[in-house]
Amino acid sequence: MDKKIDLRNKTVKELEELSVSLGEKKFRGKQIFSWVYKGTSDIDNMNNLPKKFKDDLKRVSYLKNMDILKVLESKIDGTKKYLFTLKDGNIIESVLMKYRHGNTVCVSTQVGCRMGCGFCASTIDGVVRNLTSGEIIGQVLTIQKDIGERISNVVLMGSGEPLDNYDEVIKFLGIINHPLGLNISMRNITISTCGIVPKILDLANMNLQITLAISLHAPSNELRNQTMPINKVYNIDELLKTCRYYTEKTNRRITFEYALIKGFNDQPSHAYELSKKLQKMLCHVNLIPLNEVKERKFKASTDKSAKEFQSILKKRGIEATIRRELGSDIDAACGQLRKNYIDRINQK
Ligand code: SAH
Repeated sequence: MDKKIDLRNKTVKELEELSVSLGEKKFRGKQIFSWVYKGTSDIDNMNNLPKKFKDDLKRVSYLKNMDILKVLESKIDGTKKYLFTLKDGNIIESVLMKYRHGNTVCVSTQVGCRMGCGFCASTIDGVVRNLTSGEIIGQVLTIQKDIGERISNVVLMGSGEPLDNYDEVIKFLGIINHPLGLNISMRNITISTCGIVPKILDLANMNLQITLAISLHAPSNELRNQTMPINKVYNIDELLKTCRYYTEKTNRRITFEYALIKGFNDQPSHAYELSKKLQKMLCHVNLIPLNEVKERKFKASTDKSAKEFQSILKKRGIEATIRRELGSDIDAACGQLRKNYIDRINQK
């Protein structure tokens, strides 16, 4: 493997150290950093660096780390799904969603996933490896460049479990939030997790202003154990206790994601049970009709049960919205596109 440094993987401080190690002044680090996030993909174009320094930099580092393999655009809502090829040949996916409040990119944090959730396509073949912070940033940068518009919001809800790749994800947050980086406010970033309790505690103690989304998907341990193996390690009560701590520390409202699965977790009794569990929490529930994945046996709830579920929560004082499914015509469910693409190649 190429041992060269991926410049997108580096914080300002690390680039300052790199500059000094190559015999240059420290301030060059900031200049490099700012070029990277202007979207420059060629070190030769970093106009304010001396020629010799650019040559030295090219010897030890590179900028380009992913290619667009395929883009699918939804005819229904303009959502775009990107497949990228990484330097080592692995394939990942990201999604661009155009909302009135701005462009949102949903990034992957791992190649595959090892969490094993029973309804999810990303985890079917397990995890291949963690992404580097540079590869997570690269998804946002490449899409921003491709559409020629600013990305204002980022959600870590693509393939992979962000808190299973904690250090790179934290590094990614620092870079993307930096004024010379993409300058995306922490408040416009959402991290979604299946519930790795010790890492949620670490995150709470960092007191960032990001939004934390918890993939809950069931009101009881009995049901959650059946679809989410992580629940056998950190059960619902422990998870919700940690969420309360998170809110105490950060004053941030937590989002609970709840994919409605027909006949499994979408009955009125489940809504009552959930509302009891979430009483007095500063939270919001996102109800998502399940995106059906062909390898999985689960079916989506009907609109009628979704509305009934929502109304029970609301009557009991829990804010809840039914999230519109975006990109339903382009395999937008987590990990579906990558998996279908790889399966098709393997069939050939
Ligand atoms: N690992 C993280 C983030 C990735 S998944 C997590 O678990 O939160 C992003 C969200 O999509 C999660 O809430 C996940 O549970 C949900 N999801 C996965 N497969 C789905 C499907 N088939 N239909 C609806 N939501 C799904």
